[in-house]
Amino acid sequence: MMLEQRLSSAEIIERFQKYVIPNYNRFPVVIVRGEGSYVWDSEGNRYLDFFPGWGCNLLGHCPPPVVEAVREQLGQLIHVPNTWYTEPQGRWAQALSERSFGGQAFFCNSGTEANEAAIKLVRLHAARPRYKIITFEGGFHGRTLGSTSATAQPKYHEGLGPLMAGFVYAPFGDLDAVARLIDAETAAIMIEPIQGEGGVRIPPEGFLAGLRKLADEHGLLLVFDEVQTGCGRTGHWFGYQYFGVTPDVMTLSKAICGGLAGGAMLVRPEIAPSLRPGMHACTFGGNPIAAVAGLAAIDMIEKENLLENARRIGDLFRQRLDELKAQCPIIRDVRVAGVMIGIELAIDGAPIVRACMERRLLVNCTHGTVIRLLPAMNLSEEQVHQGCDILAEVFKSQTG
Ligand SMILES: *Cc1c(COP(=O)(O)O)cnc(C)c1O
Repeated sequence: MMLEQRLSSAEIIERFQKYVIPNYNRFPVVIVRGEGSYVWDSEGNRYLDFFPGWGCNLLGHCPPPVVEAVREQLGQLIHVPNTWYTEPQGRWAQALSERSFGGQAFFCNSGTEANEAAIKLVRLHAARPRYKIITFEGGFHGRTLGSTSATAQPKYHEGLGPLMAGFVYAPFGDLDAVARLIDAETAAIMIEPIQGEGGVRIPPEGFLAGLRKLADEHGLLLVFDEVQTGCGRTGHWFGYQYFGVTPDVMTLSKAICGGLAGGAMLVRPEIAPSLRPGMHACTFGGNPIAAVAGLAAIDMIEKENLLENARRIGDLFRQRLDELKAQCPIIRDVRVAGVMIGIELAIDGAPIVRACMERRLLVNCTHGTVIRLLPAMNLSEEQVHQGCDILAEVFKSQTG
């Protein structure tokens, strides 16, 4: 590394101000190390992290099997183009396929790229005049222009127009409205099985099954954006299994490589050839480093029974947070699916996030009033209690 000497936090922040585009709101804290569900800042403070890596560090920070696998692969082969075959990519595709609906994989590096691949696949697969994709209000699909256009939230569109044509927005949870929006040009329905950024919104009973039925009746593809719900987050390998409704296309990223960058689209084998040679590509997609990290993450989840642990600590969170809800009138609703947790408040969530941080607990606030927790699936019961005690203290201080 070119770091001759350690910079102070103030000096690091100064460099950001001078040299990094200010498109993020950052906390004035420099993080230097992470291990499991803890991170340390440059002042030596330790934080319990209930939002590790914005959902990417589902196995905690620096999970040892992932670190080991990557270290070993780094000395062997880092990258070759997708004009060659590599064993890690083949094995990774098989591992994902066997744990889902037996589909075929396209690999990329991020969630938005996985969704762009899905959008292109839908258009390539559909016979014209079909090309439109129905997406949902409050949804989130990423920041490239196609995914931004798929994201039915005006705040993300401001100043960007004209957006990509062909997206039709439906209210989340309203099956009749979806049915009314389907016409001769509709090619697909694309949805997050649980809206993440949209506030951990769980669809009403039967909604996803209803979409499956509509898709079948009208010959549409059903695309699940599982960038946040996938890879074990809900206590099942994939969110669709949590609901028992199988999509035709599924997109993955965030936790897929145990904290490294990676993404994938899984597609039913009959449909997969529509993404024909020459029509789509990703230079770094499925590179050996991402692939061995992805395989190590899957292996760790299985060896350490982490799907089961995610369900168990999800239940514990539900119990603790329901108790809190009974005591704190500012808590409107608690939504839990494995280790995907939303606490909807009657007040602005930003001061809660700050108060938690002062007590060395990291949480997120989305949509203004929803405290979102995406903790690691290998969190211990003790850590759940430790964090919930802090949340209780903070909520009660706000109530009183
Ligand atoms: C985070 C997220 C994305 C975007 O992923 P990036 O890797 O930031 O491009 C897309 N869809 C969902 C559901 C997400 O949670």
